[in-house]
Amino acid sequence: MNDTWHVLGAGSLGGLWATRLFRAGVPVQIILRNPQRLADYRAAGGLSLTEAGVTAVYPVPVELPDAATPINRLLVACKAYDAQDAIAEVAPRLVKGSHILLLQNGLGSQQAIAARWPGSRCIFVSSTEGAYRQADFRIVHAGQGQNWLGEPGHRNQPSWLADLVTAGIPHGWTEDIMGKLWRKLAINCAINPLTVLNDCRNGDLRAFPEQLHRLCNELAEVLKATNQRDAARGLEDEVLSIIEATANNYSSMHQDVRNGRRTEVSFLLGQACRTAEQHDLHVPALFSLQQQLQAFLHARRLPAD
Ligand code: NAP
Repeated sequence: MNDTWHVLGAGSLGGLWATRLFRAGVPVQIILRNPQRLADYRAAGGLSLTEAGVTAVYPVPVELPDAATPINRLLVACKAYDAQDAIAEVAPRLVKGSHILLLQNGLGSQQAIAARWPGSRCIFVSSTEGAYRQADFRIVHAGQGQNWLGEPGHRNQPSWLADLVTAGIPHGWTEDIMGKLWRKLAINCAINPLTVLNDCRNGDLRAFPEQLHRLCNELAEVLKATNQRDAARGLEDEVLSIIEATANNYSSMHQDVRNGRRTEVSFLLGQACRTAEQHDLHVPALFSLQQQLQAFLHARRLPAD
């Protein structure tokens, strides 16, 4: 059995995982998208991680998607809209029964991947860790957090969780990964689009209590309709406390828009609206928010899906 962790995507979160696994002596191999990125990586001299102001560079081995070695364990660290295409490029190397860990935010991409590669076991991850790219292959660990892992419908924990202990990667196995992902999605839908539309920090949303109240009520209805009653409980209270706790921060969607990058809106607010439609729910505040956000993104020539 090949125990190497193949990390697809050496961006913020992929870099954070790869460097911690590598420095702990766990076999890890990064897969970069093309020869140009391979040359860029070599020029950068490796992958650097900055934690608590201290930077270290790690020569994590890299390869291209068409390398010959079989893949038994794949950590997919691309954005939700890139994940399927990226996996397709390495799919011929996936062995039967391989494990695919999906770090993507929101929902939709994970289910599509699980349906497309039924010969692999897909583990969904909900991460509240924070990392960003200072420059290419220069990762900053910006926020402590947790990684919840789970596989819908399966209880048995994979043996490789021991590698995460060795690498000091915070994690917990949960039988309710869908609840965790839906809850995070709902919080994101309540906060992130409003910070984009109002061009503001999270804390500035204190000025919109009625809109937040309506959104949280509708999001709770969406969660209940999709059998996520636990995830619906206390949603508004948690949204308000996150707004307080992160008052000075700009949301990830706000940062994406400010930097002219595509957002993951289709897997967040888009997913909530599609689910509401499937269940014939009346959610005018959510649909209006989606329309405003799409118009805003169109006006800035950014993809609205
Ligand atoms: P990111 O910094 O943009 O990194 C994405 C990486 O995927 C990039 O390095 C990109 O390569 C690579 N990639 C895309 N297509 C590829 C392909 N076909 N083959 C190989 N590599 C490919 O994104 P991120 O912030 O790490 O986010 C990844 C996911 O984690 C997102 O769903 C995000 O919402 C979620 N998440 C992130 C954080 C965080 O703090 N960053 C926290 C929680 C959840 P290039 O460098 O060549 O463009």
